[in-house]
Amino acid sequence: MFEDKKIDRPTLEALLTNRFFFVPSFSIYGGVAGLYDYGPIGSALQQNLINLWRQHFVVEEDMLEMDGAIITPAEVLKTSGHVEKFTDFMCKDEVTLEVFRADHLVEAVLEARLESNKLARELSEKLNVSEEKANVSADGKKKKAAANKPTLLEDSVVAEYNEILAKIDNYDMKELGDIIVKYEVRNPATGNKVTPPVEFNLMFDSSIGPTGNLKGYLRPETAQSQFVNFSRLLEFNNQKMPFASAMVGKSFRNEISPRSGLLRVREFMMAEIEHYVDPLNKNHHKFSEVAHIKLNLLPANVQQSGSTKITVMTIGEAVSQKVIDNETLGYFLGRIFLFLEKIGIDNERLRFRQHMSNEMAHYACDCWDAEIHNSYGWIECIGCADRSAYDLTVHSKRTKEKLCVRENLETPIVYDALVCNLNKKLFGPKFRQNAKAIQDKLESLTQDELALVKEGLESNGKYNLEMSSGVHELTTELLSVDLQTFKENVREYTPNVIEPSFGLGRILYSLIEHSYYTRMESESRSVFRFNPLIAPFKVLVLPLLKNAAFRPILTQIARSLRSMGVPARVDDAASASIGRRYSRNDELGIPFAITVDYQSIESGLITLRERDTTTQIQADIKVILDLVVKLVNGSETWENIIKTHPVIETSAE
Ligand code: AMP
Repeated sequence: MFEDKKIDRPTLEALLTNRFFFVPSFSIYGGVAGLYDYGPIGSALQQNLINLWRQHFVVEEDMLEMDGAIITPAEVLKTSGHVEKFTDFMCKDEVTLEVFRADHLVEAVLEARLESNKLARELSEKLNVSEEKANVSADGKKKKAAANKPTLLEDSVVAEYNEILAKIDNYDMKELGDIIVKYEVRNPATGNKVTPPVEFNLMFDSSIGPTGNLKGYLRPETAQSQFVNFSRLLEFNNQKMPFASAMVGKSFRNEISPRSGLLRVREFMMAEIEHYVDPLNKNHHKFSEVAHIKLNLLPANVQQSGSTKITVMTIGEAVSQKVIDNETLGYFLGRIFLFLEKIGIDNERLRFRQHMSNEMAHYACDCWDAEIHNSYGWIECIGCADRSAYDLTVHSKRTKEKLCVRENLETPIVYDALVCNLNKKLFGPKFRQNAKAIQDKLESLTQDELALVKEGLESNGKYNLEMSSGVHELTTELLSVDLQTFKENVREYTPNVIEPSFGLGRILYSLIEHSYYTRMESESRSVFRFNPLIAPFKVLVLPLLKNAAFRPILTQIARSLRSMGVPARVDDAASASIGRRYSRNDELGIPFAITVDYQSIESGLITLRERDTTTQIQADIKVILDLVVKLVNGSETWENIIKTHPVIETSAE
C-alpha cells in the first residue's frame, strides 16, 4: 500500500543549496527560472546515474550508443511534427499578465480547494463534537459553535474535482478553457480571472550560420538524431533486427512556467533508447526474465472512469491480458523497474501510468509513464512509448532516403497487384512539364485508388486525375492499369520503435527525496542513504583529532582508495569534533568512513564506520581497504561484515 512519506522540503532545499548539490544558474545575476547548475555532489550523482544507466541498458542490452548534434535544422523538426505540435496550453492573468500552464493551473486550484475542504471537514467534525457537548451547557454557546462551522463542498463537487484531476492530462485546449470558466479557476495569488488557453510551442529557436536564412532549434529530445541515422545503425548492426540505439545528452524546452526545482526545467539531461522492432513480431527474447515482476499499474480505462486506483499485476499477466500492448514494451517496463530499484528508488512510491487516448501522441499505439511519488506528487520521470513506424516513415518520405529493413525470405511471397503501364511516347508530350508530377502521383496511388482509375479507363475510356496543378485527363491511349503477379524474395518493412525516454534530473531529485532522512542525535541531523553505487564519494577519511602526526597515514589511505577507483573525501578540518565531521559528511550521503587514531600509528589499526547504522569495526589498514572495495562494488554487505568483524564500542558521535 502506498504511503505518502512527508518530508520537510524547506529544510531539504536549504541543505541542497548549502552543500552545493545544485543551485539556480547565474544566481549572482538574479538567476533565470528553469536553469540549474550542479555542484560537485549534484554532478557526481548525475554522472553515477548515467554510468549505471549505461551499464544497465547500453551494456547489458547490447545497445548502440551514439551522440548527435544539439542544434537541429527546422526541416527535421517540421517533419517530425514538433514545429506544429510540440506545444502546451498557456493562459495569463488578465491583469498582471502572469503566465500559467493551463492544466497545471487547473490542477493547483482544484487540489487547493480539495485540501481546504478536507481541513474544513475535519474542523466541522470537531465543532460537531463540541456542539454535542454544548447541548448540555447554555443555549447561547450552542449557537456560537454552529455559526463558526466552515462551508463545505458538496460531495458531488468533490467527485467532479477528483474526476477532472484523474483526467487532467487528457484534456484538449477547448476542454481546459471550459473547465476554467465552469469552475471559476483564477490566479490563486491575485484572484484575477485568466485568459482562455492558447497553444505555446516549447522549442527554443535559433538560426544557423551568419545569413540567418537557415532556421534551427535546440533539440527538444535526442530521439530525432537516432532516427535520421537509422540506416547506418542497422548497417553497423550487420542488418540484424531487432536492436536498439541509445543516447544521453541535454535537451531543451522553453517551459511556460518552470517551477518545482529540477522537476520542470528548460534545459535537462535525457537518456533515450530507441528499440527497433518488427511490427509483425513485438515479442522479446528475454521477456521471461521480467515476466514475474509485479508492477503498480494505473491503466488508461481506470483514469478515464475518474479513478486513480492502482492494479498490482505481474508483467506477464499484464501483457497476456493486453493491459500492456506487447512483450517488448512490457520488457522495458520491467527493466525500468529494476533500474530504479538498483539506484535506490523506493518501489512502493513508483507506479506505471498508461496514457489516455487524447494524451497519447496520435501515432503511438501504447504509452506508459514511470511516475515516482515525491513531495510534489506523482511525477512522470520516464516515458515509455510504442511510437509505431511514425518517425522513420515521415523522415523517409521527406528525404526519399530508405529508412527500412530488408529481410531475406526463406519462402518467397507471391501476390497480385495493380500497376500502371504508361505509354511513354504519348504520355510525355501530352503532359509536358506536368508529366513527371503526374507519373509520381500515379505511382503513389493505393491499390484501391488504382482500382478506381482502372474502372474509369475501362468503362469510360478516361479518368480525371485531380492534383494541385489541376485536373488531368488520363485516357486509355496514355496508360492502362493491369493486374500483375509479383514474387518477392525480400520483405521490406519499416520497423516500429519502442522508446523509453528518461529525464535524469527528475529521477535524481526523486532519488534525493527517497534517500533523505533525519536522525536525532544531540540535534536533528540530515542524512542521505545513497547506496555505494550512486554515492558521490564512497569513503570519508578522517583523523580522530587534528594532529600533524596523522597526516601521512591519511594521505596514504586516501591515495590507495583513489588509485583503486574509489572516490574518497578527506575531512581533517581543525575546528570540528569527530561527531560534527561525521554528520556533515552524512549530509553528502557518504556510505563509509575510515577513522585514523593513535592506534593506527602504533599498530596500523583503523576503524570503518557505516553511515546508516553508525556501527564501526576495527582492523588492519589492508583488511579494511579490501573490505571497502568489496562494499563499494557490491560484492560484500555491511550486514555480513559485522558477523565476522566484531562491532567496536565508540564514544557518542
Ligand atoms: P517526454 O518526451 O515529454 O515524454 O519527456 C521524457 C522525459 O523527459 C520525461 O519523462 C521527464 O523525465 C523528462 N522531462 C520532460 N520535460 C522536462 C522538463 N521540463 N524538465 C525536466 N525533465 C523533463
